[in-house]
Amino acid sequence: MTKFESDETILASIGVDEDPGQGAVMPPLYLSSSYSLEGFQKKRAYDYGRTANPTRDVLARTLAALEQGAGAVITSSGMAAIDLVLNLLDAGALIVAPHDCYGGTWRLFEARAKKKQIEVVYVDQGDAAALSGALARKPALVWIETPSNPLMRVVDVEAIAKAAKAVGARVAADNTFLSPLLLKPLAIGADFVVHSTTKFLNGHSDVVGGAVIAKSADDVEQLKWWANCCGVTGAPFDCWLTLRGLRTLSVRLERQQKSAAKIATALAKNAGLRAVHYPGLANHSGHAIAARQQKGFGSMLSIDLAGDVSVAPGFLDRLQRFTLAQSLGGVESLISHPATMTHAAMAPEARVRAGITDTLLRLSIGLEHEDDLIADLEQALR
Ligand code: PLP
Repeated sequence: MTKFESDETILASIGVDEDPGQGAVMPPLYLSSSYSLEGFQKKRAYDYGRTANPTRDVLARTLAALEQGAGAVITSSGMAAIDLVLNLLDAGALIVAPHDCYGGTWRLFEARAKKKQIEVVYVDQGDAAALSGALARKPALVWIETPSNPLMRVVDVEAIAKAAKAVGARVAADNTFLSPLLLKPLAIGADFVVHSTTKFLNGHSDVVGGAVIAKSADDVEQLKWWANCCGVTGAPFDCWLTLRGLRTLSVRLERQQKSAAKIATALAKNAGLRAVHYPGLANHSGHAIAARQQKGFGSMLSIDLAGDVSVAPGFLDRLQRFTLAQSLGGVESLISHPATMTHAAMAPEARVRAGITDTLLRLSIGLEHEDDLIADLEQALR
């Protein structure tokens, strides 16, 4: 596979007819933890499953091709992928992170900062003055999430990467919400891309996994070394399932984001809502940047209910097509209450600073018919 192939072709041809043993059209699942040596000191390509596994390597090669990186490391979860990047930093290194990042990322950064392993400063990365103030402190790493979770704020990756480079900082982008089909951060200045493959890449809500893709071969080697050293590489069966899900990413995403746009447009007129946050809406603060830097607006949105938090339980109870659950990016539509679910790990004052209200709900749009989803949301709001 080369980076000049289109994403759809890469996805459809993942590992096809690459099995030298039996000629299996689809890549086989290698579960074996060990591989024999051909003879004394004569190692084969694989020796031990924590270090490398053929099924995991197919997934790594595919994600590296889609993200246009030099290589990838597949981890046991998205959080393991985020933590793996931190291993490349020196002790006490400063990270500039978004003030409204995923709650699990916030919890990890805070825990490591408490132990003085890193230092973190959280800023609204859409606020140029705040960002340049943070960059003046010469961070080692700038962490980006675009769009942010759960408010769908969009940042200009190329501009942030340029400013970060100017002060000698590396850039890591969590591309979980968009996937490489809608945004390729490495192509516009990022050094690392992180994914929770649990979400869109697998797409069927039956695997927890992660990946780090790096722009440079040097970084890939370091990431592989740390992943083997700490034992955070992904399980072969999870990789196989993720490969299976990944094959249909382009058709899933196309359909899901088309539905999300229709739902956001319908909800924008609903008096039962204080706000609809979807970058595809012309009045969204990040619409212009998203239209310029992305291939689509994605299938995630959030809504703010009019009234106080007491209206949320009734609304959620009345929904029939949306399941109240964590996670996103699957074929089924999910709804979550960030303040008590995905962002419960965030300190309440940090949530307030980030604008995550108690009436905010995050929607992940699946493959159900959009008319059924709109009707469901409208009846619950009534
Ligand atoms: N990054 C983002 C944007 C997420 O939403 C999540 C999980 O929800 C993660 C990372 C963590 O991934 P995982 O749950 O696979 O560890």
